[in-house]
Amino acid sequence: MASIREQFPILKTQVNGKPLVYLDNAASTQKPTRVVNAIAQYYNTSHSNVHRGVHSLSQKATQLFEEAREAVRNYLNAESSDQIIFTKGCTDAINTVASGYERLLKKGDEVLISHLEHHSNIVPWQMACERSGASLKIIPMNHKGELEWSASLLSPRTKMVAVNHVSNALGTINPIQQIIADAHAVSAAVLIDGAQATPHFAIDVQALDADFYTFSGHKVYGPTGVGVLYGKRALLEKLPPYQGGGDMIKTVTFSKTTYAPIPFKFEAGTPNMAGAIGLHEALNFMSEIGLEAIASHENRLLLYATEELSRIPGIRFIGTAENKASVLSFLVEGAHPYDVGVLLDQMGIAVRTGHHCTQPIMDYFEIPGTVRASFGIYNTMEEVDQLVRGVMRSASMLV
Ligand code: PMP
Repeated sequence: MASIREQFPILKTQVNGKPLVYLDNAASTQKPTRVVNAIAQYYNTSHSNVHRGVHSLSQKATQLFEEAREAVRNYLNAESSDQIIFTKGCTDAINTVASGYERLLKKGDEVLISHLEHHSNIVPWQMACERSGASLKIIPMNHKGELEWSASLLSPRTKMVAVNHVSNALGTINPIQQIIADAHAVSAAVLIDGAQATPHFAIDVQALDADFYTFSGHKVYGPTGVGVLYGKRALLEKLPPYQGGGDMIKTVTFSKTTYAPIPFKFEAGTPNMAGAIGLHEALNFMSEIGLEAIASHENRLLLYATEELSRIPGIRFIGTAENKASVLSFLVEGAHPYDVGVLLDQMGIAVRTGHHCTQPIMDYFEIPGTVRASFGIYNTMEEVDQLVRGVMRSASMLV
């Protein structure tokens, strides 16, 4: 643990005069020095534009960018690296698919999303449905924050099912394997928003049989501004491009443009090479620690934090699913979550407060928001103790 923490200089800093306790990993993770160095090294030694240069630097940059694509393929166990599209982030990846579907969907078709989605897996589908005339249907959830999945929610009209693998607000791990199998039985495609799964456990898109899988670089210890869309080849080939521009074309005349093959059809303009190279390094970092070791460490933190916080009078957990990843959302009775967050910040403890871009979940529980602690590779049991002490102090000041 000491050697992992050593790689994150920010963990040695102070906030409000107190050592930082960073428990906002679901919003964004901190970056190990090797990721920052990989980006600096790229700009210092290898930068040029990719894919269209004969000169050596351009070829070097292209090689590094394409090696990053191969690293993502390997990380997701995708069939082939041309099924890996670099995007700006998870939101951009979902919009890429939703905007393509907007043109494929017809009146009478249905798109099924869940009550547990982040706004970025709601709004793009609402927009696609509004513009195409398709209807948006919702998978309901129960009071534990678990999806009430039933294959009867599907019909031959269902063309797309878009759900997250893990809920960012509640930590629920969703039964995506069952959802994918049931959706395929009615020939619906499935998009899995993996933003909160990829930081915590290994993903195998072939074993899952996911049609699309998306995630963000900045939540897996990589840089901001880069994300990934994985898709099955036949679906990506059928999907209309999201944006037009350079690099995504085969031929252009004023009367007609033909598109480049995947993945380039979806990568209009100069891509974020530095971001992809930083992401490659971040995936190496996680793989070297081992995804199983990461999952079991974070699970211990989650169980310990749940147990210790539950001793505080007036604590109420929001999201008590049987199957959870390292997110803990809670309220202290009689205290506004925002006030708890501000007091914790005074103690150097970074948690997130609010609706976590999941307003329908907050509406379900009839609450304005929660306090959310979310754990990463570098968090410790001592930090959980500090959180518990901090929440107790906040409660004694506010209630
Ligand atoms: N989906 C989920 C479940 C998320 O937690 C997030 C980020 N909070 C996103 C999508 C969007 O990711 P980004 O903002 O990096 O595009």
